[in-house]
Amino acid sequence: SGKVGRRNNGEIEPLQRFADAKKILGEIYDDLNGYVNETECFYNALKEFDPTTMQEKAYEEIQDIRESIRMIIDTFQRDNMKVVFFGRTSNGKSTTINAMLHSKILPQGMGHTTCCFLQVQGTSDDDGFLLLDERPSQIPLNELGKIGHALSEDNSYLPAMGQDSLLRVMYPKRENRLLQNDVVILDSPGVDLSPQFDSWIDKHCLDADVFVLVCNAEATLTQAEKSFFYRVSKKLSKPNVFILNNRWDASAADDNVEQVRSQHLTRFKQFLVDELQVCSSLEVQNRVFFVSSREVLDSRLKARGLIEKAYEMDGYQKRAYEFNQFERQFEQCISRSAIRSKFEAHARRADELVHRVRNNVDEVYGDTLARKETFERELEESTKEFNNCRHNFSAFEKAYREQTEGLQAEVHLKVSADYYE
Ligand code: GDP
Repeated sequence: SGKVGRRNNGEIEPLQRFADAKKILGEIYDDLNGYVNETECFYNALKEFDPTTMQEKAYEEIQDIRESIRMIIDTFQRDNMKVVFFGRTSNGKSTTINAMLHSKILPQGMGHTTCCFLQVQGTSDDDGFLLLDERPSQIPLNELGKIGHALSEDNSYLPAMGQDSLLRVMYPKRENRLLQNDVVILDSPGVDLSPQFDSWIDKHCLDADVFVLVCNAEATLTQAEKSFFYRVSKKLSKPNVFILNNRWDASAADDNVEQVRSQHLTRFKQFLVDELQVCSSLEVQNRVFFVSSREVLDSRLKARGLIEKAYEMDGYQKRAYEFNQFERQFEQCISRSAIRSKFEAHARRADELVHRVRNNVDEVYGDTLARKETFERELEESTKEFNNCRHNFSAFEKAYREQTEGLQAEVHLKVSADYYE
C-alpha cells in the first residue's frame, strides 16, 4: 500500500529508480529496434534492386541484431529486484516477510516449517494464485498453508517436491508497494534442516540482490547460519547482507538489554567485516538491526483494520523505528544492486549492438557507393564508345549524302538521256 514516487523530503523513492531505469532502457531499445527495422527495409529494397550489391553476410547480421534486441527487451521486462531470507526455523522469516508486505501472506507459526522455497512476487491478476515449477497449472492461493507445511499429512503435492523446489506465490500487485515495484521475495527452508547449501545457492541465489539473515536475538549465530553465508560469499562477489535480530521484544524487559545489544553488535561486526568481508565497519550500523517483526506486522495489520488489538511490548516504538530504518536501507541497497547487476549488462549490450549496427550500415553503404562508382564509370565508358560510334555514323551519313547527291543527279541525267534518245 502507499503511493510510489517521492518521499516527503523530496528524495526519489529508491524502488522507483529501478522502474525508471527499466523505462529508460526500454525506450532506448525500442528506438534501436526502430532503426534496425528501417535498415532492414532498405536492405530488402536494395536486394531486390541489385542482388549483387547486397552482401548476404551483412543482411544476415542485421537480422541477428534484430533478434538479439527482441530477446533483450523480453528479458529485462522480466527483470526484478530479488531478496532472499535465511535463518533457522522459527526465527521469524515468514513473519518478517509478512510485515514488509503489510499482510499475512505466508503461513507462520511454530510447526509451519517451510519445506521448500517460497517466492512471493506480484501479478496483475486480481486474485493471485500459486505456481509450482514442476507443474504448469495454477493452484488456488488458499492451498498455501497445506503445500508449504512440511508436516502436513494430507499433501498431494509433496511427492513431486524436494527441499529446493520452488513454489511461487503470485500475489496481486495492487496490494503492495514492494510487489508493484518488481521486488521478489524468497523465503527459504530453515538452515537447520540439513540443507544442501550449494544446490540452494546455485538454484535460487545467484541472481539475488540482497540477503537477509533473520536471527533470534535470544540466541547466538549457529554454525549452520554462518556456513550458509560462507558459501554465498564464495559464489557471489561481495553479497549484500542484512542481519535482523528478531524477537528483540523478548529482551525488552531485561535489565542489561543495552549490554546484550552491544555484545550482539560486536559479534555481527566481526562476522560481516572480518570473516565474510562483505562490508566495512562503518557500514555495519546500516546492516544490523534489532527488531520485532511480530509487533510490526501486528501494527500494520491493525492500521489496515484487519485486527483489533496489536501485540506490543514495552519500547515497541523504538523497535518499530528500527524496522523502518531497516526497510529504508534495504530499499536503497536492493535498488542500487539490481540496477547495477541487471541493467548495466543490458546497457553494455546496447552499446555493443549500436556499434555493430554502425559497422554494418557503414559496410553496406560503402559497398553501395563502390557499386555506384563502378556503374557510373562503366556507363561513362559505354556512353563514350557510343558517342564515337555516333560520330562515325555521322561521317558516314555525310559522305553518303554527298555521294548520293551526285549519284542521284547522275541517275537522273542518265534516265532522261535514255528517255530522250
Ligand atoms: P520462520 O520459521 O522463520 O518463518 O518463523 P515464523 O515467522 O513462522 O515465526 C515463528 C513464530 O515466532 C511465530 O509464532 C511468530 O509469531 C513468532 N515470532 C516471529 N517474530 C517474532 C517476534 O519478533 N517476537 C515474538 N515474540 N515472536 C515472534
